[in-house]
Amino acid sequence: MVRNCKNRTKKMIFSFIFLLSFLIGINCNSQSDNSGGNKKAKNIILMIGDGMGVSHIYAGITANKGHLNIENLKDIGFSKTHSADNYITDSGAAGTAIAIGHKTYNAGIGVDADTIPRETILEYAEENGKATGLVVTCTMTHATPAVFIAHQPSRYLYEDIAKDFLKTDIEVFIGGGLNNFNKRKDDVDLTIALKDKGYQLVYELDGLEKINSGKLAGLLYEDAPPKYSEGRGDMLPVASVKAIELLNQDEDGFFLMIEGSQIDWAGHANDTKYIVDEMLDFDRTIGKVLEFAEKDGNTLIIITADHETGGMGLNNGDIEKGEVIAKYTSGNHTGVMVPVFAYGPGSENFRGIYENTDIFNKMMEAFGFSINEN
Ligand code: MG
Ligand code: ZN
Repeated sequence: MVRNCKNRTKKMIFSFIFLLSFLIGINCNSQSDNSGGNKKAKNIILMIGDGMGVSHIYAGITANKGHLNIENLKDIGFSKTHSADNYITDSGAAGTAIAIGHKTYNAGIGVDADTIPRETILEYAEENGKATGLVVTCTMTHATPAVFIAHQPSRYLYEDIAKDFLKTDIEVFIGGGLNNFNKRKDDVDLTIALKDKGYQLVYELDGLEKINSGKLAGLLYEDAPPKYSEGRGDMLPVASVKAIELLNQDEDGFFLMIEGSQIDWAGHANDTKYIVDEMLDFDRTIGKVLEFAEKDGNTLIIITADHETGGMGLNNGDIEKGEVIAKYTSGNHTGVMVPVFAYGPGSENFRGIYENTDIFNKMMEAFGFSINEN
């Protein structure tokens, strides 16, 4: 009798659990169905702080007396940055992993480890009717912008990389490096070819203001743009806002990569003030981008780094005074994971720890694109 009763209770508990899991199951399914349908991003703005590790970000937070715009992004993960042939990646391999979803060897640009060119997220966006753009504080032919538009066996083939800008119908690019386009060993003036393709060419920051629609090639400096503190000023936020204004005119949406290029250069120099200046400049740009995305509602922002630079450690500091005391373990890049921050439709997919190649996969998923098998 006692035994029977126990059995009956057991049976009841089992059927209750069964019913409960069934209900939870239905609920989960309907939730994922909803999110699957609603969480596609019309626009993606990928922001890369080159060499920006956790210490660089916290140096910025400290210097800004306790807060940065980047803190408004709540979905956070980490990316593993090693390249196909090295524990310590360079910006070519790390950027390529993000751009094409394949690890490659150090210095590779838009090619896999076997030097086979692979379609980049920017090229997929073009193919799917979206507008695309690149805004950087280095030369346009430098590794990070190059990996999204060029396919070259080496990052140092600057003039070949410049030529690759004419192969993809990118709508807007703004940075330095005019010399790689019009003072070339082959004497070809690529600015003429760009004009023939319908680009409006702008050679100084003030000139951006007059461009209100159409394609834009902003080659604002003959070589690399100067440091923020040595004359570049608000070039990055101003150029980024202009790029968004132009790209957002495409009703199919857009892909834009914005790079805080010189955080890395400051890290190589182990120069704390330079790091902080570049970090704050990048964060002001983040503020502008967030302003747009909040209003828009269909824009996924991803902020990450390609790798850490300098092995930066914060040995002391004072938040009230905005003081940072840093030490460095390296004049080069290090192997540590780098943070990934996301905001907007699909941002929760960026939580966790994953390979840098997964950033490509997650962006493809957010756009609803599938990979072309060749
Ligand atoms: Mg870079
Ligand atoms: Zn570097």
